[in-house]
Amino acid sequence: MKIVVTGGAGFIGSNFIYYMLDKYKDYKIICIDKLTYAGNLSTLSEAMKNQNFKFIKADICDIEKIDTVFKEEEPNIVVNFAAESHVDRSISNPEVFLETNIRGTSVLLECCKKYNVKRYHQISTDEVYGDLPLDRPDLSFTEKSPLRPSSPYSVSKTSADLLVLSYFRTYKLPVTISRCSNNYGPYHFPEKLIPLIIIKALKNQRLPIYGDGKNVRDWIYVKDHCKAIDLILHKGKIGEVYNVGGNSEKSNLEVVKTILNILGKSEKLIEFVPDRLGHDRRYAINDYKIESELGFKRDVTFEQGIEKTINWFLHNEKWWKECLCKEQKNENFNYRGKW
Ligand code: NAD
Repeated sequence: MKIVVTGGAGFIGSNFIYYMLDKYKDYKIICIDKLTYAGNLSTLSEAMKNQNFKFIKADICDIEKIDTVFKEEEPNIVVNFAAESHVDRSISNPEVFLETNIRGTSVLLECCKKYNVKRYHQISTDEVYGDLPLDRPDLSFTEKSPLRPSSPYSVSKTSADLLVLSYFRTYKLPVTISRCSNNYGPYHFPEKLIPLIIIKALKNQRLPIYGDGKNVRDWIYVKDHCKAIDLILHKGKIGEVYNVGGNSEKSNLEVVKTILNILGKSEKLIEFVPDRLGHDRRYAINDYKIESELGFKRDVTFEQGIEKTINWFLHNEKWWKECLCKEQKNENFNYRGKW
C-alpha cells in the first residue's frame, strides 16, 4: 500500500503519518507539503528516519509537479490534509484559501482520475454546516444537514467537498470525505486556541478571548481523528461522507479555565477582546453514522487529552519556539497579540 498524504508537515497530517507508520509496518507513506508558515519539517524528523517514509516539498496547486509525483510514485490512496486552516487569516486574506483549498483539491482530483488512484480521501470540517444557536442544545449536525458555511475558510472547504463529490458522481472516482470537529494534541500550531492559551499562560501573558467566550466547539483528541480516518480508508463506503466528533462540547471560556487550572495559573490572565467577524456560535456534530456503520470508538476523553496535550507542550518547548519564530516572520502573524 502506498499512501500520499498532503499537508503532512502540519498538525493533523503529521499525527496521521505517525499513526499509520506505527500501525502498518509495510505501508509506504509519501508526504507532499509546501511548507507554508504552518508546515514544519522538524515535526516529521522521527518519520524521516523510517525507510517507509518519503517527503516531497510541493504545492498542491502546481499541477505539473503533482502530476510527476503521481506518475513516479503510483500511490493507491491519497489523503488530502493540505489546506490553509486558520479562520482568522481567511477573514483578512481569503484569496490564498480559495487557491489552496479549492484549486489545490481540484489538481489532486485530476491526478487521481488520470492515474486511477483507488481512493481519494478529503479531510473536511464540521464548519461546512455553519453554526447552531447556543439555546438549542438538542440540535446537532448530521451528514444530511444543509451546508451553510459562514467564513471564507469554511466556504473554501465546502466548495472542495462539493468538487470531491462531483468527481464521484461524474467520473466514478472512488472518494470518501470526513468532516471532523476541532482537533487538539501534539504539534498543534500555536495560533490556534488550545496551544495559544497553553503557551501564553506558561509565559504569564494576557490570554485573549473573543467576545463573551461563550462560543461552543466540540473537541476531539487528534489521535482519535487519525483512528477514524484509518477506519474510513479501510472500511468506509465509496462516495460517502462521515462526520467525526469528540463528544466533548465546551465553551472557549471553559477550555481556557481548564488549562489554567491544570497549569496552576490565575484566571486574572484572561482578557476579553473584540469578537471575530461573523463568529460561529456553536458547532455540534452527530457522528452516529461512523459509530454504527464502521464501529468507531474514541479512546481519549477531553480530560485525558488536555492533560496529554499540556504535557506535550511542556516537554517540547524547542518545537513551539521554532513555530513562534516562523509565525513572527510571517507578515500576518499578529492575530491575537504579540508573543
Ligand atoms: P495546519 O495548518 O496545521 O497544516 C496544514 C498543512 O498544509 C501545513 O503543513 C502546510 O504547509 C500545508 N499546506 C498549505 N498549503 C499547501 C499547499 N498549497 N500545498 C501543499 N501543502 C500545503 O492544518 P491542520 O489543522 O493540520 O488541518 C489539516 C486539515 O484538517 C485541513 O484540511 C483542515 O481544514 C482540516 N481540519 C482541521 C481541523 C482542526 O481542528 N485543526 C478540524 C477539522 C478539519
